[in-house]
Amino acid sequence: MLQICSVLLILAVTCAGPAASDDDPAPRLRQGSHQSEEAGRKQLEEYASTFDSAPQWQKRAANIRQQILRGAGLDPMPARPPIVPIIHDRRIYDGYSVESIAIETVPGFYLTGSIYRPTEGDGPFPGVLSPHGHSRGEAGGRKRDQNQIRSAVLARMGAVVIGYDMVGFGDSLLAGWKHEHPKLLPLQTFNSIRMLDYLVSREDVDAERIGITGSSGGGTQSFLLTAIDDRITVSVPVVMVSAHFFGGCDCESGHPIHVSAHHDTNNAEIAALAAPRPMMLISCGDDWTQNTDQVEFPYAQRVYRLLGVEEKVENLHLAGEKHDYGSSKRQGAYTFLAKHLGIDTDGHLGTDGSFDESFVTQETWQRMRVFDEKRPWPSDALAPNSDVVFPTKQSDSN
Ligand SMILES: [Zn+2]
Repeated sequence: MLQICSVLLILAVTCAGPAASDDDPAPRLRQGSHQSEEAGRKQLEEYASTFDSAPQWQKRAANIRQQILRGAGLDPMPARPPIVPIIHDRRIYDGYSVESIAIETVPGFYLTGSIYRPTEGDGPFPGVLSPHGHSRGEAGGRKRDQNQIRSAVLARMGAVVIGYDMVGFGDSLLAGWKHEHPKLLPLQTFNSIRMLDYLVSREDVDAERIGITGSSGGGTQSFLLTAIDDRITVSVPVVMVSAHFFGGCDCESGHPIHVSAHHDTNNAEIAALAAPRPMMLISCGDDWTQNTDQVEFPYAQRVYRLLGVEEKVENLHLAGEKHDYGSSKRQGAYTFLAKHLGIDTDGHLGTDGSFDESFVTQETWQRMRVFDEKRPWPSDALAPNSDVVFPTKQSDSN
C-alpha cells in the first residue's frame, strides 16, 4: 500500500515533552491513539457542558487558540517579513499551469512547492492551500496522484492552488532533511502560515476567499492552520479529525498543543475552531474517522448552531471507504469549495454530473522538483537537519 500510515502504529503515550512553559513544568502530550473511542466521545460531552451560548464558546475557542500557539512555540508569533518568492519553470497544461516555488520561511529554511493556476484570466482568483500527508518516496508527498489531481482540477476551475512539501519530503527530502526535528510541529505550522502570507500577497488572489484542504497529515495541517489563522475562510480536512486519535507524528502532536495547565482539548474541538467559517469534514469507515458522523460532526454542528450558522458545516461520511483522498472524497470537496469560494462550476462537470478530472497531466517527480543541478538551492540555505531559529519581532524590518 502506497500510503505509509506510520501514525497507525503509534501506541498511546503520555509523556514529558519539549518546551515547558513557566507554569506547566511537565508538558503533556496527547499522541496517536491516546485514548479509546469511548473516552473521546465522553471528552466531547464534557467539553460541550462548558458552553451553552455563542459568547461562552467564543471565550473557550479564544483560549484554545492561544494555547495551541503557545504549545507550538509560536506565541509570540515570530516575525514575518515580506516574502520574496523564487518562482520558475512554468509548465502549461489543459486550462491550468504549474510553476515551482520556494519561499524562505525562517532564515535559511526554504519551503518548496508547486503553484497551480488557471491559464485564462487575471483574477482575482480564490486561493487554496493544499498540504500533503505522510506518503513517502517518489510517489508520495506533493507528487502523489491524488494531490496533483485536486490541485489541477481546482486551478482549472479558477483557483490559485499551492501544494508545499512537509519537512523531509519532496525537495526537502532530496536535500537531506529528515521528517524528524525537535521543532517539527512549530516549523511546519509556521511554514503553512508563511505560505499563506505569500498566497494572500499575490495580486491575482482574492485574500477574502482562501481555502485549505488535505488528507491525513495534510488534514492535520489543514485544521491546525484554520484554527490559528482566520485568513482561512473555508476548510476541508480529510480523514483526520478524530476525538480519540491525535495524530501519530511529531508534526501533528509532538508539542503540547492539546493539553496544558490552561487548556484541555482534542482534534475534534480544534477543527470546530473553524466556526463560523465554512468547514466540511470528510471521513471514512476504515480509520480513526469511522465515528465522525456520530461523534465529531455533531460536536461541530452544535458549535455552528450556537453561532447561528449550522448550514456552514457539513460531513461527507463514506463508511465503505479507506484512508485516502480518493475520487469520491475529492468530488465532495470540489462541490463544497466551489460553493464557498465563489467558483463557477459551469463547464467543469462531465456527462455524469461529476467534476471532470480526465484532463489532468500527472507530472513526474523530476518535473516537479524545485531545485536540481540546473537550479541549485540558494547559497544561504541551512544545512539539512540544522536547528531553525524563528526570527523575533524586533528583527522584523516592518
Ligand atoms: Zn509528520
